[in-house]
Order: sequence, then structure tokens, then C-alpha cells
Amino acid sequence: MTDLPGIAITGISGRMGQMLLKTVQDSDVVKLAGAVEREGHEWVGQDVGTASGGAPVGVVVTDDPVVAFANAQAVIDFTSPTATLGFAEIAAQARAVHVIGTTGMTDDEIAKLEPASRHAVIVRAGNMSLGVNLLTQLTKKVAAALDEDFDIEVIEAHHHHKVDAPSGTALMLGEAAAEGRGVKLADVRDSGRDGITGARKRGDIGFTAIRGGDIVGEHDVLFAAAGERITLRHVATDRAIFARGALKAALWGLDKKPGEYDMLDVLGL
Ligand code: NAD
Repeated sequence: MTDLPGIAITGISGRMGQMLLKTVQDSDVVKLAGAVEREGHEWVGQDVGTASGGAPVGVVVTDDPVVAFANAQAVIDFTSPTATLGFAEIAAQARAVHVIGTTGMTDDEIAKLEPASRHAVIVRAGNMSLGVNLLTQLTKKVAAALDEDFDIEVIEAHHHHKVDAPSGTALMLGEAAAEGRGVKLADVRDSGRDGITGARKRGDIGFTAIRGGDIVGEHDVLFAAAGERITLRHVATDRAIFARGALKAALWGLDKKPGEYDMLDVLGL
């Protein structure tokens, strides 16, 4: 039991933090080694099991990642971009695999992960599910097969608590479509349409974000031409798919060389 790889979870009280806790506790190949919440959070200092409304598990929630990561071989992190940058440095010092599910990171923030990835494995993905990662490959193929007569639109829907748009997954799908077309997403990205926008520019990749209720995550990639449409769709109905993917990434990373990886590497897609 004690030889099992230890997993530290950040943002333990969050929607994904709680799902990760359950996934780690249900697993017989890893053990919980640490739990982090932000400074001032009421769970800090409490047993993670008790704070989550269950039986004590012998791990106390801390606001100090250095303490939480000390006995961890991997850190699973679904928090916020600023928090994630701090965790990357500390996970690298602990030589722990850092699995990053946090979305909404800017290109500058992503670039700041590079020093950490020289010392430890980082696996970062806007979506950790097998289905979505497969969908990125399909999107790339379809985009490569069709010309600009087909307008590409990525339509996503999430719960009303989500703070970033378009979703990390929508951007992954947009990147895949752009790659298939042989263009850079930054040059053709069209998000946040409102008002007199003018006609749609040929070759653009458009994004629409729907926010409401408790929607876990839905993504459509629409290829629309005169007279016909193709839609590729993924619907997530349970956050467990992201937690299972993240745990898989953590285990995969244990024997890999330092560097930055994504779920396509983990899943071998
Ligand atoms: P949430 O708001 O429910 O949880 C975030 C948690 O992080 C909160 O408990 C918050 O207190 C904690 N936190 C923030 N700053 C912290 C800090 N400095 N130290 C420690 N803890 C800190 O959000 P959520 O729905 O769980 O989503 C979290 C992130 O994961 C978002 O960016 C979301 O888009 C992303 N997400 C990614 C995937 C994926 O597959 N990659 C799937 C679902 C969600």
C-alpha cells in the first residue's frame, strides 16, 4: 500500500478537485499524498475526507504546496492559471509529474511553464477525456479533406460557473481544424461576435460559447457549406471522464523524461 505512487490534488474543494479525490480514493494503484486549497479557504487545516463530508482519510488540506507535494510522485492540478504557474515551479522542485487541467492560460503563461518542464514531466491538456482527444484527430482529418467552401464553427456549452471562453476544449478543436487546413489559428480565429460584425470572412474559424445551468461540457465542430453540413460532436455527461484521464496522465508520466506533453501523447493518438 505504502509503495503506491502518491498523488497530490490542488483545488481540492473545487468541482474537479472533488471528482479527482473520489477517483484517487477508488483507485488501487495510487494513494492520496496531499491536498491543497487556496490561502484563507475554510478547508485548510481540516482532514480532506471530513471536509468533503465523509470519513477522515489521514491527509490534511494545506495551503502550502511545498508540504503537499513533498511525498507526491504526481500533482493533479485543476485550478486557475496563476495558481498553476506557482504549482509548476514547486512540482518541478519536487521532481513530481505535473498534470495540468487548468484552462484559460494565455500564451505568455504557457511559455512560463518551460523552465519547470526542464526538470519534470508536465502533461497539459484543455480536455483530458479520450473522446475529445479522439475528436481533435477527427477534426484535423475532416478539415484537411475539405476546402474553404466549408465554414468551420466550434460551438461549446458549459455550466454557468465557468470563467473562461472559449473553453480550453473549443480552442483545442480550433487548433486541430487550423492544423488540418495548414493555417495558424491566431490568423483565422473569430470569437465573440456581437453587433454589426460584417459578413463572415472566408477561411475563418468561428467560436460560440453557451453558458447555462449544470452543463458538464458539449462541443460541436460544424463544417457548413452551401447545400450541406457536417457536425462532429462530443457530449460529456460526467466529470469523472476528466478525472480518469488526469490520473492516467499522472501514471503515464512517472517514467517519462522531463518535458511538456499532452493527452495525445498519453493516449498514443
Ligand atoms: P472550481 O472553481 O470548482 O475549482 C477550482 C478550485 O481551485 C477551487 O476550489 C479554488 O479554491 C481552487 N484554487 C484556486 N486558486 C488556488 C490556489 N492558489 N491554491 C489552491 N487552490 C486554488 O473549478 P472547476 O470546475 O473544478 O475547474 C477548474 C479548472 O479546470 C478550470 O480551469 C476548468 O476550465 C478546468 N477544467 C479542465 C478540464 C480538462 O479536462 N482539462 C475539465 C474540467 C475543468
